[in-house]
Amino acid sequence: MYIIMLGAPGSGKGTLAKELSKEYNLVHISTGDIFRENIKNETELGKKANEYISKGQLVPDDLTIDLVKNRLSQEDVKNGAILDGFPRTTHQAEELEKFIKNNNPIQTVAVLLDIPDEDLVKRVVNRVICSNKECGAIYNTEFRKPKQEGICDICGSKLIKRADDNEETVRDRLKVYHDNSKEIIEYYDNENVLFTLHPNIYSETVLEDNLSKVKGHLKEKVTK
Ligand code: AMP
Repeated sequence: MYIIMLGAPGSGKGTLAKELSKEYNLVHISTGDIFRENIKNETELGKKANEYISKGQLVPDDLTIDLVKNRLSQEDVKNGAILDGFPRTTHQAEELEKFIKNNNPIQTVAVLLDIPDEDLVKRVVNRVICSNKECGAIYNTEFRKPKQEGICDICGSKLIKRADDNEETVRDRLKVYHDNSKEIIEYYDNENVLFTLHPNIYSETVLEDNLSKVKGHLKEKVTK
């Protein structure tokens, strides 16, 4: 199955995607992570993408769609994948649907994390991530603190802030998200594959709650 994670920046979709990836043994493909890796390695793609990412804008569709199609053609995606951060436009969604139909026609489910903007700003501004990309654990200095400040609970690496996790960029990204997400949410709603969660991000058990709701939903809906 393909699970498409939908939700604004900071909605917790990355964290939930990682858990779902373990639970169902599906690769977790985050377009944001792939772009950041390319920026770090100063590849041509990274340089082009960074012109948009640094301003909180979307990377153009042609670059993004090619990148995802390449990734979905790899062997480890034959049972499906968790897509995190893609699609973000209707054109991307249509191209994805065509690709899946033509190459690997298995079931698609979209999971939307619906959270008020002001809660999201607080969450993103306090977000720190593990500097070890193999681990990539995500923490929040207010709601999901690591046991030891600045250190990853899982692998012991240093925790860092993402360059685009500041209030000004987050507000720009939320605006971009709202401008684009309406059509994407409608797209999956019309396809009858949308599952919406309204997580309470102040709850200690928000991740477990989300996970159990999604598992319950998939058990009922996914047959292949
Ligand atoms: P994320 O980590 O998903 O918040 O992505 C970080 C940034 O990468 C976004 O603000 C966009 O600039 C870019 N990006 C990630 N995924 C996409 C996509 N599907 N389409 C266009 N731009 C993207």
